[in-house]
Amino acid sequence: MAKRDYYEILGVSRDASPEEIKKAYRKTAIKFHPDKNPDNPEAEDQFKEAAEAYEVLGDAEKRQRYDRFGHDGMRGGAGGFGGGGGMSMDDIFSQFGDIFGGSGSPFESFFGGGGGGGSRQRRGSNLRIKLKLTLDEIAHGVEKKIKVKRYITCNTCGGNGAENGTALRTCPTCNGSGQIRKVVNTMLGQMVSTNTCGNCGGEGKIIDRRCGTCKGEGRILEEEVIPVKIPEGVGEGMQLSMSGKGNVPKRGGVPGDLLIVIEEKEDEELKRDGTNIVYDLYISLIDAALGISVEVPTIDGKVKIKIDPGTQSGKILRLRGKGIQDINGYGKGDQLIHVNVWTPKTLSSDEKKTLESLRDSPNFQPQPSKGDKSFFERMKEFF
Ligand SMILES: [Zn+2]
Ligand SMILES: [Zn+2]
Repeated sequence: MAKRDYYEILGVSRDASPEEIKKAYRKTAIKFHPDKNPDNPEAEDQFKEAAEAYEVLGDAEKRQRYDRFGHDGMRGGAGGFGGGGGMSMDDIFSQFGDIFGGSGSPFESFFGGGGGGGSRQRRGSNLRIKLKLTLDEIAHGVEKKIKVKRYITCNTCGGNGAENGTALRTCPTCNGSGQIRKVVNTMLGQMVSTNTCGNCGGEGKIIDRRCGTCKGEGRILEEEVIPVKIPEGVGEGMQLSMSGKGNVPKRGGVPGDLLIVIEEKEDEELKRDGTNIVYDLYISLIDAALGISVEVPTIDGKVKIKIDPGTQSGKILRLRGKGIQDINGYGKGDQLIHVNVWTPKTLSSDEKKTLESLRDSPNFQPQPSKGDKSFFERMKEFF
């Protein structure tokens, strides 16, 4: 099915301000919200469609990309396992915090509170860890086992925090809504204020006897080893997310995500420049003049290369395909070998004599204009 234009979905013009987009989304989301349209798959589709549109248009960077490349530009952003795909209901509800302000479920107030029927699930916090990778690991991809401490659902109570998971009692103070409405008569008329219920702390339910294992939290902190597959070509600062591997919220709900932030360990020999690898090769004056075959390191081990007789310092040799795979699948980079001719810094008297005897030889006089490219021309060729 062809995707509809995001601006059309939200009913805004292409030059709408962020505030207008937010407003339009708020309106659309309320109109098609599942609580308002029970058992209406069409409304649910429209609800999801609007959420997806807002996910993009509500983010300056994504919106710019969408404006330039359309839906094609939204597939599989840099980093991140998830890539395209639609949003789940949980994603959508977790997005509401920013749009409606406040903490959790703004719809309660819009739709007069669903009480016990509300199926809105809470979402736990994300976990963020740093992962340092060597160039070799980046170049070839790697499977890592990451040790994280995260909140998981308490097995004893099944997550509700009550002894042996027994049913919770509806809070008598708020009748399960978690909120207390107060109507105050003032000179200006009736004022209604809503406060979190103090008896249940806004939960709407009360635990009579707390679970001994989790002390009523419904979750416990545990160390877990999580295997993570790192694709080739990741880069410094890139963030990979593993959905559902973050913390479980208190008293049950959907776990947050595990966010893995990539750090690059610098390699002593091979430097990375995007998808290319740059290597500085030093050869002697003699080898530059006579030519030689030398071994150079690459991400796939040592490779023999030929230095032609008469090679100038500053020449750049290219090993095609010996770079790093582009993370978005645009192919592999190259290894660029920067040739440096080493000038001796100390000489014995015999060496001095030998060189002195060559000083006036015409072959030793620089002739830069004869077929050799200038530094500037070489730079243009490679970058
Ligand atoms: Zn428990
Ligand atoms: Zn209450």
